[in-house]
Amino acid sequence: MAHAVVTGGSGFLGSHLVDTLLDDKYRVTVLDNHGSGRPANLAHIEPSRLNVRKHDVREPFPEFDDVDVVYHMASRASPDDFDSHAVEIALTNSEGTKNALECAREHDARTVIASTSEVYGNPEAHPQTEEYNGNVNIRGPRAPYDESKRFAEALAVAYRQRYGMDIRTVRIFNTYGPRMRPDDGRVVPNFLSQAISGDDLTVYGDGSQTRSFCFVSDLIEGIRRFADAPAEDAAGEVVNIGNTHEITIRELADIVLEVVDTDSEVVQKPLPQDDPELRCPDISKAREMLDWEPEISISDGLERTIPYFEKQLSLSA
Ligand code: NAD
Ligand code: UDP
Repeated sequence: MAHAVVTGGSGFLGSHLVDTLLDDKYRVTVLDNHGSGRPANLAHIEPSRLNVRKHDVREPFPEFDDVDVVYHMASRASPDDFDSHAVEIALTNSEGTKNALECAREHDARTVIASTSEVYGNPEAHPQTEEYNGNVNIRGPRAPYDESKRFAEALAVAYRQRYGMDIRTVRIFNTYGPRMRPDDGRVVPNFLSQAISGDDLTVYGDGSQTRSFCFVSDLIEGIRRFADAPAEDAAGEVVNIGNTHEITIRELADIVLEVVDTDSEVVQKPLPQDDPELRCPDISKAREMLDWEPEISISDGLERTIPYFEKQLSLSA
């Protein structure tokens, strides 16, 4: 059985990735500090099928007999954490990525690095292709996240140049679904929690900024296809994975108000500094290389996510 190490495997995306790896008969080890992730995200898995180790990736990885693939998913990802956890985030994506790459190097394993559309900053090119170099404010409040993800990508280039390793970098665009924490702070958990609780939906700014929301199963399918693609196609590559259906945040609020039975209304809150005005992936490369395309619409994805949030909110009530 091939052995996959998944950093951040107790988090939202990591736990869904773990599910698919177990389905595909991998032996899986999760390394997670349980900061923004939760053991409950893996509680449905029979404990003998999974090795979960509480470990902070800023520290060197534990010794393993063998590793075939490292998925480096660990990092807080909510802009709500970019200030309060700035140093932790910057070091998780720099030191933590080094430790992930060292583990892969020792075992001659493939590495998949979770990067982000945030490397494009407030983009001047639209939609964003992998060739676009981005427009990040290196001294702004998002810099600890954005720049450390950019450094993670650069470190991947360095390890590939120096050691010839098979490293693949996935730039993930806004993804949502079950297992996001209701208090995560990102827009979908906020809007769903607010609508289900009957609180007003907090739109930051005038809501004209856009995002393109991908349902988690589509995203994970894209990551797996990339991770499993032949080395001659995918080693050393960077690929955008996300949904191309771009909407304004105000439109998202209206869709949430349609799909949740609620009396909530929309209120405005200040727009955070450096909040990107536009975001939409160009996924031509993923289409061509991976024959991948997202399938789940925003309203369908929200419908699939609502029962999870209802349950979480009733448990915490
Ligand atoms: P999440 O917060 O649910 O998951 C992150 C996981 O990493 C958590 O389980 C957390 O406990 C763990 N973690 C954080 N720092 C760690 C450390 N130092 N050591 C060990 N574990 C640590 O967030 P997510 O949305 O699942 O994000 C997963 C990855 O995908 C992140 O790398 C994030 O930057 C990237 N990403 C996500 C999105 C998205 O829309 N969900 C978009 C772009 C990029
Ligand atoms: N946002 C909002 N209300 C919220 C949370 C977020 O209007 O309660 C906005 C935020 O300003 C941004 C967009 O929704 O323009 C997406 O925010 P999120 O934090 O989900 O991720 P980002 O794409 O900014 O990393």
